[in-house]
Amino acid sequence: MTKTITILGAGPAGLTAAIVLQKAGYQTLVYEKNRDVGRVFYGDLQGLENWSEDIDVLAEFEALGLAINFDCTPFSALTVFNGEKEWPFSCARPGFYLIRRGAMDGSLDHGLKEQALAAGATILFNQSLAAAKADIVASGPIVSHRFAVDLGIVFKTSLPDSAYGLVNDQAAYKGYAYLLAAKGYGCLCTVLFDNFSEIHRCLSETERIFRKFVDFEMEDPKKVGGMGGFLLAPVFEKEHRFMVGEAAGLQDMLWGFGIRSAVVSGALAAQSIISGTSYQETARHRFLGKQKAGFVNRYLWETFGRNNYSHIMDRIDRSGDHRKFFHDFYNLNLLHRLAYPFAFHSLKKRYNLLSDDVQ
Ligand SMILES: Cc1cc2nc3c(=O)[nH]c(=O)nc-3n(C[C@H](O)[C@H](O)[C@H](O)COP(=O)(O)OP(=O)(O)OC[C@H]3O[C@@H](n4cnc5c(N)ncnc54)[C@H](O)[C@@H]3O)c2cc1C
Repeated sequence: MTKTITILGAGPAGLTAAIVLQKAGYQTLVYEKNRDVGRVFYGDLQGLENWSEDIDVLAEFEALGLAINFDCTPFSALTVFNGEKEWPFSCARPGFYLIRRGAMDGSLDHGLKEQALAAGATILFNQSLAAAKADIVASGPIVSHRFAVDLGIVFKTSLPDSAYGLVNDQAAYKGYAYLLAAKGYGCLCTVLFDNFSEIHRCLSETERIFRKFVDFEMEDPKKVGGMGGFLLAPVFEKEHRFMVGEAAGLQDMLWGFGIRSAVVSGALAAQSIISGTSYQETARHRFLGKQKAGFVNRYLWETFGRNNYSHIMDRIDRSGDHRKFFHDFYNLNLLHRLAYPFAFHSLKKRYNLLSDDVQ
């Protein structure tokens, strides 16, 4: 009989690990401190990025053993404003999929929970465990390494399926804001990478600017928010424990797209238990370059973000297929390697980086 694998946290990373393990004949016990999955979200629309790998993200999830049993709307276009100018970006295949987060039917969290339960996993809600006692730690963002804070509003709307971005330091300091709509649900959000105490004012400014360009109504609005944690040198193993998702420090430091890494790292940890291969090795291979690229991208974003990001937006606009542009920028290239020491020294203090992170 195989040992029961204990998993701390029922987010995308922990639930994926449970699904993959159960399907391979392992018993899993998932501890979730809240009374259901996705309790920090209220139907928030989030983007499942489809640019960092050649393989389509949904095809990758299926190849890992997941079913796509959650609502998922493909987007090949995004209009970005900076308050003065607008850029219509597009790509040949979906650049991202909009999904919903929360405990409700149709959300990613609910879909993964259903798959885990159907595969035979036990989820203990309202229960926790010391991280040292877990086999897989999937407990989400590391508060001490917070790098971004989000605040937004989710609502019902008659706005047709659409995606708008806003780059403007008055509305989203060193970050970005967005207005998304899919299947009658909307989400307006700002993401700050500094000056976190300004977040409420930034959300009001975000709404004000979007209303100048887009006509939308908000029915049944609810405030949402959260944070992202990042480690330049992610920690994949601690003693005997596997660290996955944001608990490992995995995040995209440019814009905070962490779902794909969470799901993939959860699956890699499970596969390593099943096959006896090294999780550390496969995870480093998959994520280290991207983590470093994201860090340098953040430095480039802040350095070349003068004139309300219009230089950067013009540069992306000229690139042709915008999905391909992002693919190249999310994977470590020569420019990243050259800019890395400058990025490290510029962002060291703000992001509490250790000199061991320079590799
Ligand atoms: C407002 C907001 C918008 C975002 N938008 C996007 C987006 O558009 N695209 C994108 O890719 N990413 C986005 N992200 C990031 C994305 O949500 C995360 O990267 C992803 O959910 C990480 O998954 P995870 O499983 O590692 O952690 P989490 O989703 O945080 O799950 C961790 C789980 O562990 C539980 N837990 C924590 N501690 C304990 C404990 N001690 N005991 C038991 N249970 C515990 C938590 O309750 C939670 O259920 C956004 C994040 C926020 C906050």
